Amino acid sequence: MKLLTVQYGGETIIGALVGEHVIDLQKSSEMVQCTFPYATLLEGIEAGDIFTQHVTQLLKEVENKGGVAYPLQDVTFLAPIPKWKKNMMCVGKNYALHAIELGSKDDIPEHIMMFTKAPTAVNAHNAVVPLHANVTNMLDYEGELAIIIGKTVRNVSEEEAMEAVFGYTIVNDVTARDLQQRHKQFFIGKSLDGTAPMGPVIVTKDEIKDPHHLSIQTKVNGEIRQDANTEQFIFSIPTIISTLSKGMTLEPGDIIATGTPAGVGKGMNPPVFLQEGDVIEVTIEGIGTLRNEVK
Ligand code: MG
Repeated sequence: MKLLTVQYGGETIIGALVGEHVIDLQKSSEMVQCTFPYATLLEGIEAGDIFTQHVTQLLKEVENKGGVAYPLQDVTFLAPIPKWKKNMMCVGKNYALHAIELGSKDDIPEHIMMFTKAPTAVNAHNAVVPLHANVTNMLDYEGELAIIIGKTVRNVSEEEAMEAVFGYTIVNDVTARDLQQRHKQFFIGKSLDGTAPMGPVIVTKDEIKDPHHLSIQTKVNGEIRQDANTEQFIFSIPTIISTLSKGMTLEPGDIIATGTPAGVGKGMNPPVFLQEGDVIEVTIEGIGTLRNEVK
């Protein structure tokens, strides 16, 4: 199922995307008398497997009896998880060609490289990404597949790591390259407000047969800049989850961005950075397209 958080008529709604409509899960549950004790999508993810069972049951009832739905074009998207419990975790270099475009072959990592983005960087599908011209003139995009954790795990093996996954979404890891470089640690350059657009939906893992075989493409103003496949990952999803969980607890709702392919603005010759009015679209097979305009 495709789950999302949207605003409609001034209210924040947990929805399921069915065709071109957003099913209002709370209002529909009252109508068809199904249990749905979740105020936010994060609360649902935290509840564990029972949440997807409740949504599955509810969607069946809605199909039979009707429910409350809004046309997709009438809703305002929020990030599927608008309030993160902690920083978004991000893999630094997970595609060899991206490591090379920003350096050389020597920059292909032997061990996973991680940094994080502050929760205040969160942003939504169709929302504006601020240009932050007062602090950077090197704003860049990074289209990425992101994992949503669904179970509390620590010291999980690679064999068992996939059980910790709730689903997947798209993240644009927007980066201020000058700040990233100047401050050495990536944190400042990765955490400007609005530089973590995510969504438009979270797709539950049962709908993604093989997350290591998804096409990923980023366009800027319609021009293809990144065009790759997650089969090119240096570190697989089980390796990422298992490595992070060694001595550190991962919790439901944690977000892990898996790294960006080659084709970022900084890797172009000469480098091209984002400008006022640019439209960035990141498309991942099986999930959808995350679109944002820079202003
Ligand atoms: Mg990135």
